[in-house]
Amino acid sequence: MAKYKERCFSFEFFPPKSEEGNKKLRDVRSQLATLNPHFCSVTYGASGSTREHTKGVVKEIHESGIAAAPHLSFGADSEEKIAEILNDYKDIGITRLVALRGDVPSGMGGVKLVYANELVEFIRAKTGDHFEIYVAAYPEIHPQATNYDTDIHYLKAKFDAGANSAITQYFYNIDAYFYFIEQCDKIGISAPIYPGIMPIINFNNLIRFSDNCGAEIPRWIRQRIEGYEDDNNSIQQFGIEIVSKMCEKLLANGIPGLHFYTMNQAHAIKAIWDNLGLKQ
Ligand code: FAD
Repeated sequence: MAKYKERCFSFEFFPPKSEEGNKKLRDVRSQLATLNPHFCSVTYGASGSTREHTKGVVKEIHESGIAAAPHLSFGADSEEKIAEILNDYKDIGITRLVALRGDVPSGMGGVKLVYANELVEFIRAKTGDHFEIYVAAYPEIHPQATNYDTDIHYLKAKFDAGANSAITQYFYNIDAYFYFIEQCDKIGISAPIYPGIMPIINFNNLIRFSDNCGAEIPRWIRQRIEGYEDDNNSIQQFGIEIVSKMCEKLLANGIPGLHFYTMNQAHAIKAIWDNLGLKQ
């Protein structure tokens, strides 16, 4: 099933809000840089100040010699502002972007979000083929989608607008991913769709986040972890074991690569990487 000659491995970070967080992130980045990722992406908050943090981290990654891929969404910004951001990234030599609709941030009710396919169209209109564009995909379907078919129809719209590949929301159900790929194939999506891999680091946060974002934590995983109560060490070990097994199965079945949600921590990612015997 070796459909892809070279697999692509990437890491995602979020921009810290404090200098202390930045220091910690630099340390995490330098540990993960030894794994030679194809690129590192940096998430994009919805409000002005957090957006500037993204640019700062992107610049640091780029200057360290690793390809950086900023995430981008319109949020409440004007076309002029987004065009300016695109030009800034182009000027410093960024060639990859993750284009998203984003969500309405708390305290910013009334903002009309711009769908990701429209952002992709905008990026192509303003910057031609300069950027390699990644978009989001949801094997367990986006929580606001009308239904399964419409959601993959809109994923196709993102590719039709000029996206090159997609990164999925995290999942712990491999069948959901492979079924999704089959359905995408049926409607003519042949671009790479990279599984997004979430290590299990902080279980309570993961549960809270999963309820809102279109990812399900299977009952057997919840039960196992709840049984560990406050034993964080056992939770982390179990998380590393099951996520490694899941990645192993994915890699054995012809996927284009893996995108790791690092949560700005290196330990679990390095352990999973070692378990998979991936090259450095
Ligand atoms: P879209 O593709 O625009 O889809 C949003 C919803 O609208 C879906 O239900 C879809 O079915 C529907 N839809 C899509 N297009 C249309 C259309 N043209 N007309 C009508 N309906 C439509 N969030 C952040 O805030 N910052 C980040 O950095 C960030 N990074 C992410 C990275 C990845 C890999 C993933 C998977 C998600 C990320 N998110 C991020 C979360 C994301 O912003 C949310 O899931 C958001 O709700 C949807 O964004 P999208 O780009 O998938 O939206």
